[in-house]
Amino acid sequence: MPASRRQFIRTGLGLAAAASMPLVAGCAAPAAPSPVASSVAPGAFRARVGAATITAVSDGEASFPLADGFVRNATLGQVQRALREAGLPEDRLAIPFTAFVVEHVGRRVLMDAGNGQFGAPTAGRLLANLRVAGIDPRSIDTVLISHFHGDHVNGLRDRDGALTFPNARLVVPAPEWDFWTDDSRRAAAPGAPSGDAVRRVFGPAAGSVARFRPGDELVAGIRSIAAYGHTPGHTAFSIASQGQTFTYLGDLVNVAALFVRNPDWAVRFDMDAEAARQTRRRLLEAAVAGDWIVGGYHLPAPGLGRIVRRNSGYDFVPLT
Ligand SMILES: [Zn+2]
Repeated sequence: MPASRRQFIRTGLGLAAAASMPLVAGCAAPAAPSPVASSVAPGAFRARVGAATITAVSDGEASFPLADGFVRNATLGQVQRALREAGLPEDRLAIPFTAFVVEHVGRRVLMDAGNGQFGAPTAGRLLANLRVAGIDPRSIDTVLISHFHGDHVNGLRDRDGALTFPNARLVVPAPEWDFWTDDSRRAAAPGAPSGDAVRRVFGPAAGSVARFRPGDELVAGIRSIAAYGHTPGHTAFSIASQGQTFTYLGDLVNVAALFVRNPDWAVRFDMDAEAARQTRRRLLEAAVAGDWIVGGYHLPAPGLGRIVRRNSGYDFVPLT
């Protein structure tokens, strides 16, 4: 019997659970307790997934009036109806930003880096929230980047150019790097934001930025998953431990009430809407099938939860 099972059964709760468990041959007790999210500080929630500790740390939010065109392939009326059904205001959107710290096998890995000093006045809280959650930015040893939109990379350097996570190795998807550092490819992509953020944060240390091929295993048992569409190299990160899985979805979905429930809808930031749609369906289905704990940069607090099927789409169920 594995040690974790022995420990589990030794507790009173474990004995009660074991007593009520049907005696089915080959039916093992869960290797690890079901993950729960607990608040560790204002703006930070923590969950244990297998042997990994996941901390969702808020970078604040941005709020703006809902306008036609936020969802490219739905009418304003359809979008307002979806917001109403989810109990949200119909005239404004509040988009949260949440980065994730994964601690596993002695490593401390940050996934995406926040807006830094370059976003809305209500954003750029990641550093302060990391500190109140007891995570010193100097203790981050790796920063994994899902994609190069400014709200995910601007926090890597302050206005003066100083690195925010000075002891961290920056690890980025190669296809994302290849696109954003190629002026002609960027110029040919309609609606692509400028590459200013990319030049500012990566330019001064271009030689030391590690680039990986999505699909590669990266660090501390974290695997990368190609999730192209939102941007050309958009990548998810997943860690499996003791039969449980945490997957950081990056910007696979924007507002959950819109794009988890309607995975065929395209947010206006999706650069290749059809690729993004297919990727969204594939990964949301995998999240259901694998009972993943997911994290998403724009998911509502705590930013951690599960995906369940709903009508012809899905729903995000926050972890409590
Ligand atoms: Zn984003």
